Amino acid sequence: MTASLPAEPGHAEGAPGDGRRQPSFQEMWRELAPLGRDSGSGGYRRYAWTAADADCRAWFRAQAEARGLAYELDRNGNQWAWLGDPLAGDAVVTGSHLDSVPDGGAFDGPLGVVSSFAALDELRRRGARFSRPLALTNFGDEEGARFGLACVGSRLTAGQLTAEQAHELRDGDGITLPRAMEAAGCDPSTLGPDPERLARIGAFIELHVEQGRALDLSGDPVGIASAIWPHGRWRFDFRGEANHAGTTRLTDRRDPMLTYAETVLAARREAELAGALATFGKISVEPNGVNAIPSLVRGWLDSRAADQSALDTVVAGIEAAARACADRAGIELSVVRESFTPVVEFEHALRDELGKILGQRPGGAAPVPVLGTGAGHDAGILSGSIPTAMLFVRNPTGVSHSPAEYAAEDDCVAGVLALADVLEGLACA
Ligand SMILES: [Zn+2]
Repeated sequence: MTASLPAEPGHAEGAPGDGRRQPSFQEMWRELAPLGRDSGSGGYRRYAWTAADADCRAWFRAQAEARGLAYELDRNGNQWAWLGDPLAGDAVVTGSHLDSVPDGGAFDGPLGVVSSFAALDELRRRGARFSRPLALTNFGDEEGARFGLACVGSRLTAGQLTAEQAHELRDGDGITLPRAMEAAGCDPSTLGPDPERLARIGAFIELHVEQGRALDLSGDPVGIASAIWPHGRWRFDFRGEANHAGTTRLTDRRDPMLTYAETVLAARREAELAGALATFGKISVEPNGVNAIPSLVRGWLDSRAADQSALDTVVAGIEAAARACADRAGIELSVVRESFTPVVEFEHALRDELGKILGQRPGGAAPVPVLGTGAGHDAGILSGSIPTAMLFVRNPTGVSHSPAEYAAEDDCVAGVLALADVLEGLACA
C-alpha cells in the first residue's frame, strides 16, 4: 500500500513539477464542501470507510499529487503526503481528519487538512527552503461515528489500540472494521502499531476549529492549545420501587426519578463551583411506562475539568449529593466509572516554540492566547509518543459537532498564515 517515496533530495525545496497554480483556501473549501453533506439536515455524514469517506480521501490524494507530494496510505488507513525524504527523520507533520460525527459541521477536521495544503502553498510562495521533511496527514476515523471508538487511526499507530481490538469493532449493522476497510479497497491485515513511523516524526501540529467560545470572548482569531482536559463517564443507577402512577400515594412512593432529578441539579451546581463541566445527557428508565413509577433510573454523567483535582472534586461532590438524596428517599444508588482519559498536556517546549514564533510576527506583539479544551483529538493521542501541539481557530458560535459550527473566512486565512509561520519556524532553514 505504500506509495513510492521521493528519492531526490531536491524535492524538499519544493515547487510542484509543472509549476501550476494551486487552488486557494477558498477554492479547496468549496471543492470539499459538497462531499458527504446530507441535503436534508445540511450536516455532514462522512463516516469511516463509507463512500463519502472515500470521496474525501480521493480529494486528499488529488491535492497531494497536484502539489508533487509523495502520497502514502499507512498500515492503519491514515493518509500522508510527503515533501522531502520520509525516511530522513525529524519530520514536521501537520494535518487533522476529514471524517465527521453524524450531521457534523464543515470545520471540525477539514479545517486542519485544508489549512495544511494552503500553508504549504503559502510557504512555497515565500520561497521557503525546507530543512526538515514535511508531511500533511488525514487521520482515519477520528470521530468514531461508525465503530463507536474515536481516533482509531491514531490510536492504532500509537499502539493505544491493538489489531485484535480493532478487528472486534463493529458498526450498527454488525459490519466489522476489517470488512468495512476491505469493502473500501483497503487492506486490514496490516493494522497495528507503527513505531517506525512515529520515530521519524519530530513534531505534529494539528490546526482545529475551536469547540468553544474562548477565542471569541478574548477577541483573537487564533490560539494555542495548552492541554486536553481530563474527562470521564460515570453510570449512576438509582433503584426504587415500581408502582402504579394512579394509585400509589406520594408519601408511599420510592421514586428514583426524583433522586435522579436532584442529582442532575447537583451536577450543575458542583460543576459551577469547580469551574468544570458536568452533563447528564443519556438516561434509561425501567419499566419506562408513562403510568408507572420507575423501578430503575440509569443516568450517565460526562464530566471534564481543567485538571485532575477539579474533576475529582466535581464528581465526588455529585456522588455525595446523589447519596444524600438517595438515603433520604430510600433509593439504592450505585455509581460505576465506565471510562476515563487523564489530562493530556501538550509538550511545553513545542508549545512555547509556537508561542514564540507567533508572538514575534510583525504586528504579533500581543501574546497568542493559550487555552485548554474539553474535546479529544488525534494530537492528544499522539502526544503520548511524539511532541504535539495544536492551533485553534475562532468559532464565534462556540457550537461544534453540528452544522452551526463556524469560522469566518478571515479567521480561516489567519489560521493558515499562523500555521505557515509555525511550519516555517520549525521546518525551514
Ligand atoms: Zn476534530
